[in-house]
Amino acid sequence: MKKKDKAGDSSGGRQYLFTENRKKLWHRVRSWISGSQQSPLASKDESIHIQKRLRNQVDEAQSEFIQPGICEACRISPIEEEVESEVQQQPYRVCYLCSERLLTRSLRPLEWFNLAAIHGPYKHHLHADFYSEGGIAEQPSKEVEDPEKYPAPSFDDVRNDLERLLDYLFTRQPPGRDEMDALGIFEGRDILTSLNQRVGSSNNIDIEACALDICAKVIPKESEGWVRQRWNTGNLSNLPALASASAICLPPEEGLRRVTDALAQLPESEVRNQCIILGWFHSPLALDWLETHVEKMEPYSDNWGRLAALSGLTWGRAVTWIHGSKRLALIAIDGLLACWKYDTVMLKEYSPKLLDPAPVEEMIEELDRYAQINPSPRVDRRVGLIKSYMNK
Ligand SMILES: [Zn+2]
Repeated sequence: MKKKDKAGDSSGGRQYLFTENRKKLWHRVRSWISGSQQSPLASKDESIHIQKRLRNQVDEAQSEFIQPGICEACRISPIEEEVESEVQQQPYRVCYLCSERLLTRSLRPLEWFNLAAIHGPYKHHLHADFYSEGGIAEQPSKEVEDPEKYPAPSFDDVRNDLERLLDYLFTRQPPGRDEMDALGIFEGRDILTSLNQRVGSSNNIDIEACALDICAKVIPKESEGWVRQRWNTGNLSNLPALASASAICLPPEEGLRRVTDALAQLPESEVRNQCIILGWFHSPLALDWLETHVEKMEPYSDNWGRLAALSGLTWGRAVTWIHGSKRLALIAIDGLLACWKYDTVMLKEYSPKLLDPAPVEEMIEELDRYAQINPSPRVDRRVGLIKSYMNK
């Protein structure tokens, strides 16, 4: 694994190489001392002497590049290395030993917990293929040292400590509702202060998404200004999480306007997939948005019908679409089906229903007429399914 070159371009390359080569030597000498590799030197004392000299050289070379602080994993030793993560501005800042354990997937549960609380549990070095949710190493390439002495805290261990409880929630994939509700005993403004600090220092969209989720589910009123602040950063890489929190924390018109404005800034290929986020608002305004935006978008997306169902589709609007353009008619059919068939997480969560339905016979007659005039396997199959749900 490549270590991050903190020195940048101004003579940093040489300094970096100097530091890296000495670090490798330091690790080798350490293995001589521990006995895991045979030493070419005369005595153990000689090895220890060389190790000290190398360590001093490395520390000296690194001191101007590595920020002072405590290792993010063990939270005991000083930071001695920065290991790259997927987030460019958020390397793992760890001690030598934790760096080695991170790269060999042999972190102890507590070290995994401490890192996942800062970086999120989805990062390559920490994710579920290598560690269970409790931080148990599942594929270590080196033996995990004394894991039983460094357990990750349980929910009961942290529930009365705001910072540790937030750490716990940030390590979940995602947090459970009961676990989030435990925040109810703390002051909203204290929760928000901590979330703001965590998001501000991380530049990590997983951390921001978790913080927005906590805001929406636990402190929606207190979070209005903060959610607005996240919009004002202009960063749309977390748009789904921002939209979801905005639907609860912001006045509905403002939230919907912010999301439609953001969609307008995206390439068309992304808009067709991402527009489902308008479904968080359950607003007929999203039906108006569909009418004015989907005609030219290619190819057709199954999400458009789901969005219609989530946005208060009425039978009257469905009939208008069925008699309108071919594309709107298809969205109407898909939208009607999505009022019964919940095949996504969002549909399962909200279970949308067709609003202001006509008598079943009348609706079936309309659908049969449409299927007769526009025969295709897709339409036949879907109309058949809708009819079977209507007749239940
Ligand atoms: Zn450490």
